[in-house]
Amino acid sequence: MYLRAYFSEKMAIKTKISAQDAVAVRRMLDQCKNVVVVTHYSPDGDAIGSALAMWEYLQKKGKQATVIVPNFFPDFLKWMNGADQIVLFEKQKAFSYNLLNMADLVVVLDLCEASRMGEELGRVVKGLKRTNKIVIDHHMNPDKKFADILVSHPDCSSTCELLFRVFVAMDQVSVLSKAAAEDIYAGMYTDTGGFSYNSNDPDVFNIIAELLRKGIDKDRIVRNINNNFTAERFRLMGYVLYQKLLVLPEYHASIYSLTADELKTFKYLKGDMEGVVNMPLQIRGQKLSISLREDLEHPIIWVSIRSYDDVSARDMAEQFFNGGGHFNAAGGKLENCTMDEAIAKAKVAIEAFSDVLADPIAQDTPVDELIEKTNK
Ligand code: 5GP
Ligand code: MN
Repeated sequence: MYLRAYFSEKMAIKTKISAQDAVAVRRMLDQCKNVVVVTHYSPDGDAIGSALAMWEYLQKKGKQATVIVPNFFPDFLKWMNGADQIVLFEKQKAFSYNLLNMADLVVVLDLCEASRMGEELGRVVKGLKRTNKIVIDHHMNPDKKFADILVSHPDCSSTCELLFRVFVAMDQVSVLSKAAAEDIYAGMYTDTGGFSYNSNDPDVFNIIAELLRKGIDKDRIVRNINNNFTAERFRLMGYVLYQKLLVLPEYHASIYSLTADELKTFKYLKGDMEGVVNMPLQIRGQKLSISLREDLEHPIIWVSIRSYDDVSARDMAEQFFNGGGHFNAAGGKLENCTMDEAIAKAKVAIEAFSDVLADPIAQDTPVDELIEKTNK
């Protein structure tokens, strides 16, 4: 009993947040009345999770709060409390402008440069001169001029993890509802591939312990996120792996591509390819996976890159695909080019990284030995 009380009061979690930031964020959240919470274009689990957790918190504090996201978010995030009240900027522009003009505070989560909200929403939020802005984010190279308070910690594996640390630093964990804890777990889970990468910090698990103490059912959350495919999405995944995956064994790399026509055959909905780019990395020895997906409406090919070890997905995205991102998970786009040209470009990018791709991924059983065992 004593031990339990000791841990929940002291919480063995290093906040990483400076006392100055904690006080400043707390003051701004306490003093506001009308808040808009925004996140990035094509929001993922960490974006929706952090936005809704903040929304839950603000509701509990008696604030008028709304989440605005630039565009559509995938079905597998719609179980979260409040997801049905999220305003889609692309669909509800007049309403969004109204909310933003009335807001005395905008909380920006999971992004650190305005353009990640999409051109128009980014411009509008950046242009709100008399509205306070807080950015809480874990991406590299934040725009330091964008917000009044910038809480930037690229060493956190998710914005949800960072947000929880902010609540710890503000001494507000006791205010968090079970629903907020579910949102935070969902973001931490999705941004670490189910705690399979970027998650060796013991505090990640200390935070999870606190979330469990809020009563979350993490097994159910994982089911809600993962076991939510349509039959078409499941078949699309099979098609990619069987028919479309080009494996380049000498580079420990692979590329797959999907044209708009192929996507339409499988009744593609936005979000259906989420996570598929991670799958080729399950092939023994592989270090890099590139996904090329044609947009259904515009002459754009969306690029997703995932890597392991010392292969920088971010450098590749910046140098070849007009993008950026995290060290091992990045993205970008190619405009006005054919899929064949995009594939050729991906091959050139792989060739350019051949130094770091030459050796297979470091793993504990040598690859040769594994092959020998399998063949016996
Ligand atoms: P995804 O492959 O899931 O679309 O993106 C992976 C990560 O790369 C995202 O979390 C995001 O941080 C980053 N990312 C994707 N596209 C871009 C882009 O065009 N520019 C930048 N700077 N980052 C991107
Ligand atoms: Mn994130």
